[in-house]
Formats: sequence, structure tokens, C-alpha cells
Amino acid sequence: MTALYRKYRPQDFDDVVGQEPVVRTLKNAIELGQVRQAYLFAGPRGTGKTSMARILAKALNCEHGPTTTPDTVCHACVSIANGSSLDVVEVDAASQRGIDDIREIRDRVVLQPAEGNYKAYILDEAHQLTDQAWNALLKLIEEPPPHLVFVFCTTDLAKVLATVRSRCQTFVFARPRLPDLVRVLRRVCEGEGLDAPDAALALIARGARGSFRDAVSTLDQLASATGNAVDVQSVLQLLGAVEEDALFRICDAIVERDTAGALVFIEELAEQGQDLGRLVNDLLEHLRHLMLVQHMGHVPDSLPVTDETRERLREQANQLPEPTVLRLCDLLAVAVDDMRQGGDPRLPLELALVKVTRPGADLSRESLAFR
Ligand SMILES: [Zn+2]
Repeated sequence: MTALYRKYRPQDFDDVVGQEPVVRTLKNAIELGQVRQAYLFAGPRGTGKTSMARILAKALNCEHGPTTTPDTVCHACVSIANGSSLDVVEVDAASQRGIDDIREIRDRVVLQPAEGNYKAYILDEAHQLTDQAWNALLKLIEEPPPHLVFVFCTTDLAKVLATVRSRCQTFVFARPRLPDLVRVLRRVCEGEGLDAPDAALALIARGARGSFRDAVSTLDQLASATGNAVDVQSVLQLLGAVEEDALFRICDAIVERDTAGALVFIEELAEQGQDLGRLVNDLLEHLRHLMLVQHMGHVPDSLPVTDETRERLREQANQLPEPTVLRLCDLLAVAVDDMRQGGDPRLPLELALVKVTRPGADLSRESLAFR
């Protein structure tokens, strides 16, 4: 069985979710006959750079191409999609990074395309190429034969030589927003006959931290683990994640200055097998969201939250005093430090909760200032 990520990677420009500026610019270039010969696709892993490179190759080499709407069914399109096209060569620069590999490319690119209009070279992890290899490529990038297109993909734009960057058109791929990730997951569910509530998909999306690949891979794992009935509980279990509701409840207890309530709740979570280290990290992320809302005056679009959570976040940001948020961040940072040294996060977590719910019990200088 092929991995779901591969099966559901976008096949044409209309399939691409997010990355609107990239799609728009590439389509314009194709329509105007102004396709460049060297592109640099930069962005975090799993944001669809290689998929986009393949779509561009299809657009150029489709039987009906160059076209912004490759048919995805002709021989050229199909062979590009399954990686067997003679005209579209994918190179993993992490393993083929040396001068000999590049010389080989250099010798081959002068040949005419086998069936399409163009030969396309897609170099993945391009920042790993050696300087020598880049230098061998530079001349080609500068004066390419007319049928040649390079797409360099990289997760680390800063490591790509300035001389290369100046010769390429660069696109920066954004991390997809939560609703975009959920849309893709929903599409996979429909295609696979998977049953999953929105809350479960939102949770998977949150855990994927902006990677389509991670999101779909998680769904893939869950589908086989649960026999195609994915629910919130199974997602939480697999990711070891903390249900958002728990984070809100802890902060509610702090608003109420309910020390006992907060401690009892931590006890319950621990008994349910919740990883407290994960809880500390998720709580910090939650506090960061609250802090952003408090200081920006609204919930920023970039936050990976559903509409429902958005509303709750706004409310809690109003209730929890700003100094408390900052103080708790400081205290939890200690817990994170402890964990890095192999310590148990439980005591520092509990101490932090006691200190912010009962500032009178804490005689440290920071606390006095905080009161
Ligand atoms: Zn085609």
C-alpha cells in the first residue's frame, strides 16, 4: 500500500492548498510564456515544495502543454507523477551532493528532452550541495540550454550561495494554516472512507506544526491503528498530546486562584497516563497564545486554532492578568530546564501553579514584584 501522503499529494495547481502567491506567479509565467529556467523553492519540510516542482514540470511537459491546467492523464503527466519520466529528474542533493554527481548532470542536460518540451531537474535539499558542485552548476544556471529548467528545493535558504540565489527566482513556501491542514486531511478522509470528527482532524493538524506530510502521515498511522475510526481519544494517545480543554481548565483554575483545583486536576491527568513533560510544553504554547492575544488585541490568524478555540482564547486572555501569564511562563521555563537535565517535571509544574494561584505563599523577589 502506498503511503497516503504520496497518494494524496496535489496533482495540479488547483489541488494545491495554501501557497496561493506561488501558484499565482507560476501560472502567470506559464500563461505569458515567461517561465524562468531556474527556480528556488524554499520553506519548511512538508510544505509541498517537491510536489509543486512536479506540477510545474507537468505544466511544461503535458501533451497539451505548456499549460496551467495539465491534464494529469497523458503519458508525460503520469510518468512525472510516478517518477518514471525521462525528462524530469529528481536528485536528492543530500546523498548526491558531490562534484561527480553534478558533472553527470552537466553532461546529460545538453541532451534534448525525450518526449516533452523541457528537461526539468528537481534538486531536493539543495543546500546540501558542496560549493564545488554549485560552482559546476553555476554556468548552467547562467546560460542554460533553452529546454532546461532547474528547480532547487531547500529547507534552509540561508545556506544557499548568494551567487545562486541571485540567478534564481525564489519562492518562499509558507507553513500552511490550521484550516488548510484540516482541509487536506478531510480530503484524505473522504477519499479513503475514513470516519473522523473535525475535532480529531484539528488536533492532528495542530500536532503537525505546519507540515502537510506530518499531518497526513499521522492520519495514516491512526487509520491503521483504529481500523478507520479515528476519534479524539486515539489522536491524543498517539501524539501524547494534551486536549486543549485541559489547558483552558488549568488556566481557569489560575483565574479563580483555585490552588487545590489546579493540583487535583494535574493529579487526575497524571493518573490518566498524561505525559506531564508534554503538558508543560503544551501549556507554554497555550500561554504564548494568550500573551499574543493580550498584546496584539486580537487572535492572530497564524495561530493553529479552530474558530471555537479562537473565541475561548479571546475570553481567557481577558480574564488572566498579563503579569500572571508572564510569571507562569518564567516558572514553567524552569520545569523545561529541569526536564532537559532528565528531571521530573511534576514538582516544578506543581510549584509553578501554587506560586501563581497563591502569590502570598511565595516570598521570592520576583513574586513580590509580581504582587
Ligand atoms: Zn498531460
